[in-house]
This record gives sequence, structure tokens and C-alpha cells, in this order.
Amino acid sequence: MALTDSLTGLRTDLGAIEFSTDTRKLRTKSRDRFAQSPVLRDLLRGRNAEIFIAPRGKEELRIAVAACARHRIPITVRGAGSGQFGQGVPLRGGAVIDVTALTGVIGWHGEPGRRPPTTVRALAGTVVADIDAAIRPSGWELRMHPSTAHQATVGGYIAGGHAGIGSCRWGILRDTGNITALEVMTVEEHPRLIELRGREVNTVHHAYGANGIITEVELPLAPAWEWHELVVSFPDFERAARFSVDVCRSDGVLTKVVSPHAHPLPQYFPELAGLIPDGESMVLLMAAVQSVPNVEDLVRDNGGRIRYRCLEGKGSYGSPLYEFTWGHSMLRYQRHNAELTGLMALFPPRDLYESMVAVHREFAELGPLHVEMKRIDGGLSCQGSPVFAFESQEQLASITERLQRAGLFIANSHTPVLGAGGMKPWGPKEAAAKREFDPYGLLAQGKSDDAEDTITGSTALPNSGWSYRLS
Ligand SMILES: Cc1cc2nc3c(=O)[nH]c(=O)nc-3n(C[C@H](O)[C@H](O)[C@H](O)COP(=O)(O)OP(=O)(O)OC[C@H]3O[C@@H](n4cnc5c(N)ncnc54)[C@H](O)[C@@H]3O)c2cc1C
Repeated sequence: MALTDSLTGLRTDLGAIEFSTDTRKLRTKSRDRFAQSPVLRDLLRGRNAEIFIAPRGKEELRIAVAACARHRIPITVRGAGSGQFGQGVPLRGGAVIDVTALTGVIGWHGEPGRRPPTTVRALAGTVVADIDAAIRPSGWELRMHPSTAHQATVGGYIAGGHAGIGSCRWGILRDTGNITALEVMTVEEHPRLIELRGREVNTVHHAYGANGIITEVELPLAPAWEWHELVVSFPDFERAARFSVDVCRSDGVLTKVVSPHAHPLPQYFPELAGLIPDGESMVLLMAAVQSVPNVEDLVRDNGGRIRYRCLEGKGSYGSPLYEFTWGHSMLRYQRHNAELTGLMALFPPRDLYESMVAVHREFAELGPLHVEMKRIDGGLSCQGSPVFAFESQEQLASITERLQRAGLFIANSHTPVLGAGGMKPWGPKEAAAKREFDPYGLLAQGKSDDAEDTITGSTALPNSGWSYRLS
């Protein structure tokens, strides 16, 4: 059957469910933030869905998914569209199904007879910050969230993201225990809802929506301390790095984000530039109020100076401080200079400080180093790279190889194809889940095991992949 006939059939089957085939709407809803990558900017432009579907709840989603399965229409699931790797782009047309109306915190759960909640459960389209807002009066909060917490949906974070604010203490989403459960809808004529717990959640996490449609997410909680934001300057990057490693390795010091930026990067943030003397490097961090005196000691030990401190979200810079870290750092660097880019390199936990300093020095001619401190697979690491002006794909490949030779593990953050990206292992378990949850292979076409040469060829970079002990 031709796709146009299938689409006609699909439209009929959708009945009262909201949909659109308006070209402008299709263009907008087929994009995410891939333009942050100079490689993807041109490559993914013009890849549009043929129909946009906006179910109002789980039952309408089930009807829409069943209709797509019946007519064999490819599906791209859409949350807030804030992914940076083109995960949300429909590479092979078909339907974009927007799940942002599946919203609301379902509840928080504790052990029977115990008061403090242990996990929170929400519908997949709930904005991440709204979950924290609902749960905080109980004295608890999410262990981690992306720097896009005020835009991203929790389903999109689980399907497209990997770590964020909180990862310097709790590790990445993939680490055992950081996702409690997922409810997933299968793509079949009669869609089923399947509950995944334990290690099974990782077959769906960071699968770019290829392994089922996440309808509910259950996440573990952490105490909601009174968080303070601190902007700290250091005379050089070496001391900023030493402080960052020391503060994260001090297990009794409660931090939520530790984000070192080498000179001159602080000057690229007009909102913060006045706080950091020109020539100095900077660490942005969030610390629990009871840990601030310990942070002050460590800053002093390393020759730094706290230039600004305030309660979370109350800074004179107009945004939560975490919106200058993680993916937001590059967003803001690119406002300074649209050609700037970076790579997603993971530093080895062993000799971490030495490795940060070695990369900072060796790549000084290329550009200043920015990393985010994070725990991963039980060890302290950091992720990031020198920030440099993009010239060509060959330049990216050659920098990637140099970073690999320096002992770093590189994921290709300039591709929407999972296998070419390297952050997510795609093994037999993932392939089996795909067969079970998406037997017709309609979800996220071209991003899992059926990638196109036009994309993989154009985005190829040497890729050391990230391995996990407990994969
Ligand atoms: C400025 C900026 C900062 C960022 N910071 C971080 C960060 O700190 N940490 C981090 O991990 N990421 C970060 N990201 C990327 C991150 O993926 C998104 O911010 C966010 O988590 C994605 O949520 P979303 O609702 O926008 O998902 P979308 O972009 O809509 O979707 C992301 C992927 O998930 C799929 N998907 C969406 N919803 C579902 C669902 N219900 N079921 C199945 N598949 C689904 C989509 O098809 C797509 O492949 C950042 C991005 C930007 C632009």
C-alpha cells in the first residue's frame, strides 16, 4: 500500500483525535535542538513527518498507536523537542506523536508503614521541574534532572537524555537504581502496556524512542536540601580542576552540580562575566546549605574566591545557575560565537585530575576546556571537551582521535544514530526488546539497528563508545 493511502486510512481511524498535516506545523514538530551541532545543522534539515498527532491522554495514544501499527506508519515520539542529537527528527517521515498532554504526577510511594516517600511516579509528558515542584513540599526531590528541567518532559529525559544536575553525587540515569520503573506502550494493532523494573529499564532508557513508547516513569528520590548557588573564581584552570575533584571526592559534602569552565569561557556568559575577573577560570556549583562552610574551606585551599552566593534560583543572573551548565553551557557559548562546538569525551576516573590538566594544557591552542563533574559506574569522572570553532568533519575526527590518544572515551554527539553515538550499548537485550515492543519496526526508524548510510556516513567520527560494567 502506498504511504498516501496508508495516511488516508490513518486519518480516518484517528476519529476525534487531534492531528495536523499543515506544512509549517510539521516542520516545527519535526525538529529538536540538533542545530547545536554544526554537522547535523544541514543534514537533518527538511526531514519532516507527514502527520502530527496530539493525543489528549493514554487512551487516545493507544488508539493512535494502534492505527499507525495497522497502517504500518513510522512513528517518532515527541516530548518537548529539546534533544540535541536529532533524536526527535523523523528520519523516514510518517507520524510524529506528541505526548505532552500525558501529564501529571500520579503519586509518590513509600514502603508500607513508612512515612518518607521513596519514589515518584508521573505520566511521561510531565515537565521535569513540575515533578520537583509537586514533591518538594514533602521534603524530597528528584535525584537528578537535565539543565532543561523547565522544558523537558520526563519521558523525553529518560528516552533521550543521560545525566545532569545531581549526577556529581548520584551518577548517570543508566547507573543501577536511578530509574525505578517505566511503563511502556507497545506498537501493535492491540497495544499493550508493559511495566519494566530493575535492569530491564535500560533497554528503553536512551533508546531514542526506538524501544516502545514510555507512558509512565517512576524515579527514586533524594532529600530536598536547601541548595545554594555559588560562582567561584580561580587564578588558573589547574586550581579549578583540583577544587572540582576535591569537592566531589569529599563524600560528606553535598553538591548537586560542579561545572568547571577554563578562561576565557566565563567571559562568554554576559550574565556572569562581571563576577569573574578577566583571565580567571570559574567553577559553578550548587551545594546544600550545611555543606557551604566545607566548600569555602576547599575553595580557600585551592586559591579560589567565592564571587557570588545565593539561594537556588535567586541569582542576579536571571536563571537558575544550572542553566549555565551541562547542555546550557554550549547553548550560551554559541550565543557568543555560533561556530563554537565541542565533543562528548569521558575522562578516566583513574588519575582524573591529572587527565583534566593534561587535556587542558595539550589542547590549549585549540580552545578552553569545559567539563561537567559526574559519577558513572561507581567512579568519579567528568565529561566535556575543549570548546573550539568548527571547521570541518575532518577537523572533528582529528580532534576526536587526539582526545582518544590522551586516554579519553569519546561518544559521537553529532549523530542521531544510536550505534554511531556510542553512549548506549545496543546488544541482544535491546534487540529483543525492540522485537517485542515494536514488532513492525515502526519506532524511531533509522536510529537503532536500521540506520541509513546517508546519516551514518555523514556523521561518522572515530567512536570509542562508553562501556558500563553492569550492561
Ligand atoms: C540547552 C540544553 C541542555 C540540555 N541539558 C541536558 C542535561 O543536562 N542532561 C541530559 O541528559 N540532556 C540534556 N539535554 C538533552 C536532553 O535530551 C533534553 O533536554 C531532554 O531531556 C529531552 O526531553 P524532551 O522532552 O525535550 O524530549 P524530546 O527532545 O522530545 O525527545 C528526546 C528523545 O526521546 C524520544 N521520546 C520523547 N518522549 C518519549 C516517550 N514518551 N517515549 C519514548 N520516546 C520518547 C524522542 O523520540 C527523542 O528520540 C539538553 C538539551 C539542551 C538543548
